[in-house]
This record gives sequence, C-alpha cells and structure tokens, in this order.
Amino acid sequence: MGLTGLEIFKQLPKTNTGDCGFPTCLAFAMALAAGKTSLEKCPHVSEEAKEALGAAAAPPIRLVKVGTGDTAVELGDETELFRHDKRFYHPTAIAVLISDTEDVAARVKDFGELEFDRVGLHFVTDMVALKNASGDAAKFKAAAEAVAAGTKRPMVLISEDVAAMEAAATAVAAGKPLLYAATGENYEAMTALAARLGCPLAVKGNGLADLSDLVEKVVKLGHKDLVLDSGSRDTSQVLADLTQIRRLAVKKRYRPFGYPAMAFTSKDDPFAEVVQAGVYLSKYAGLVVMKASKKEELLPLLSWRQNLFTDPQKPIQVEPKAVAVGEVTPDSPVYITTNFSLTYYIVEGEVESSKIPAWIVPVNTDGISVLTAWAAGKLTGEAINKALKKDDMESKVNHKTLVLPGYVAVLSGSTEEATGWKVMVGPREASGIPKFAKANFA
Ligand code: SF4
Repeated sequence: MGLTGLEIFKQLPKTNTGDCGFPTCLAFAMALAAGKTSLEKCPHVSEEAKEALGAAAAPPIRLVKVGTGDTAVELGDETELFRHDKRFYHPTAIAVLISDTEDVAARVKDFGELEFDRVGLHFVTDMVALKNASGDAAKFKAAAEAVAAGTKRPMVLISEDVAAMEAAATAVAAGKPLLYAATGENYEAMTALAARLGCPLAVKGNGLADLSDLVEKVVKLGHKDLVLDSGSRDTSQVLADLTQIRRLAVKKRYRPFGYPAMAFTSKDDPFAEVVQAGVYLSKYAGLVVMKASKKEELLPLLSWRQNLFTDPQKPIQVEPKAVAVGEVTPDSPVYITTNFSLTYYIVEGEVESSKIPAWIVPVNTDGISVLTAWAAGKLTGEAINKALKKDDMESKVNHKTLVLPGYVAVLSGSTEEATGWKVMVGPREASGIPKFAKANFA
C-alpha cells in the first residue's frame, strides 16, 4: 500500500515554509498521499526522506511510452482497480498482428484505414505488431522497415531470437518500438539490446511467479520501461493473471508487477476474438495484440474502449450550439435535444436519414440526456428559451414552432410560455424522427 498522509508527514521538514504551494507540511503530505502533488514541489526535503518517499510516491503502475511524437502510445500509470473509484487514464492500446511472411506493405496500407469517427470522436487503431514468423533476421528487418515506411504509428517487434530482434530493432530504433520479448532464456541479451536502443521491453513469463522473478532480474540489469506478459493464452487464465497483476500493483504496491501488462488474443473466429480482446481490455491489459484487422471487427472494440476510459464523472458533451443538418431553408423544422453527445448524435443521425433538412438545438444540460436533464431541472422552458435566443433561431427560420422530445411532452406548456414558440411534441425515441418528419414536414 502507499504511505498515508501522516506517514509522509513524518518524513517532511515540518517547517511550514509554504514553498510547495501548500500552507503547511501536513497539507502537503495529505495532498501527496492523495496523488495530487509531487515530492519535487518541496525544495527542503532531505535526500534520506526523498529515498524513503520516492518509491511510495511513485505511481503503482509505471508509465511506459512506445513510439514517438503525436502517435506515441502511453501504457500504464493506472491507479484504480475499478473505474468508478476515480477513472482509468490510458486507454488499452490495440495492436494489429502482421507477420513478416505476408505482404507487409499492403497490410500496413490497410492498417492505415482503421480509423473511425463516432459520436464526434476520432478512434484510431494504435499499433502494428510485427511477428518474425519467417525466422529469418533479414526478412524481419526488411518487414520492420516496411512498417516504419508505411505508418507513423508505433510498432511491437515480436521475436525471441535476439539476433533477429537486433537486426529489426536497430533498423527502426528511432521509432522506439516495443521489443517483445525477454524470456528466461534470452533476457540478458534482450535487456542489453533494449537498453542500448532506448526501447521499452516486454517481459514474458511462464506464469506469474516466473514473470515476477524475471522482472526482478531485468530490473537489476537496469531497464525499467517494461511491459508484462504472463505467457498465458487461455482466456480465463489471462483474465486471472491480468487481474492479479493489477491487484498486486495497485493494492499491495508489489513492485515487480508495477508495469503495464499486455495480452494476446488466441481465438480464430474474428468475432470471438473481439469478445476475447474486450475481456482483456476491460480487465486490465494496457496493450492487446490481435489478428482482427477489419473495420467491422475493430469498431465495437474501440467503442467499448472509449466508454470504459472516459471520466465517469464527466459526461461527454457536444457544444450547445444550433446545427443545420442538410440544406436548411427558413421553413426547416427546429428540433430540441440536449448536449449529451450520445443523444445528440443519435438525433442528428435520424434527422439526416429523414432527408428533411432541419435545425437541431442542443440545450446545454451539462452533457446529460433528455429525461435525466428534465428530472434534474436542467431541461426546462427557460433553458430552451435561452438556447433559442443564444443561437438567434428567430432569424434563421420563418416560423416559431419547435419540436420537443416526446419524453418531455410535459414541458410543452412551460416551453410555450417561456419561449413564445409553438410546441410540437415529437417522437419519444429518436428512431421515430424520420416517420415524424415525413408526416409533418415533407
Ligand atoms: S515546501 Fe516543504 S517544508 Fe515548506 S511547507 Fe511545503 S512541505 Fe513543508
């Protein structure tokens, strides 16, 4: 476990200088225990205390960076077992497996297309995992160069053969690939190679006990940018291993497991594989390597990832601003909804498919959905009036009729009163919009 505020306080100078930005050493200690500040903020702490507190103040799971620049992927630095306790910070990276026996350039080109826009967010598939299936060092090196030429996204190089790894990793070292993997047989040479190239290193154990021993040996050799693989491939065993690693790291501060973990899918059926990857993504892989490489296979996984790694205390919102869908005219209808992004984009999709151009006015409800916003007093006649006025809707249309979501028909009277607009009660579900629009506005 991490140290408590009082345990940290005992190590501080107790002179209350305020140089750390906190009025007292005790306030600073409490903030440090809660992970809200860092030890460097106190310029007066002794070297001895630094040593004692440094490990305690370190994050339970080390942050490991793979790749460089804008496309670099950060793994780890998680502090929770359960998302609702705070939040998860670094979305599980998805790596698509490519073998050096395939047409690598063509596969990388396809990989580049695995990007999606959904609910106003842009999803990407993060990494390419290149496997030395040929067993040929020259081929592996050429394939690594082809991947580097085809994408800026980071790579996982997969080979337990140190000579093959050295050839490929040296050629693409500038991109800081993850080297997979140090094992009981090769760890000395593999660690030396990763340290020399400044690349992160995956450590593959044969079960958790073996993994723990191996990590300690690698760390003793001086390399700390590690990613852990228990070596298991059976779904339930991988899940158990990932859970144990996270639990021991976060709850017990067990240092050999204080690194992000990775998992490989093993299912051949693409949809079973996506489900398997979804399990690992949920608990608690920092990186999942998988074979699936089609949009329809990856989009559900990336959507699930997006849901899991958002801050549960902050609803996803769109800007509360009127949006014209299609070629609007002064006759176009005006739909009212809220600025909860999921609600907004569903409404937008249905208005679009109605093929009748319209305005959508998302009322600012702090990103909560229609019924919840109504119950919380955030979707009211006054709030709708404010939204209509802010966007000057009266100047955009030649009528004063708005469509209210069917679920809040109860707001009709107060909305007419507050806005001076006539209210039409729309369908309860957004899926009813096309039929509603055709019946009323075609
Ligand atoms: S800077 Fe250090 S000594 Fe001064 S109040 Fe903060 S913790 Fe205490």
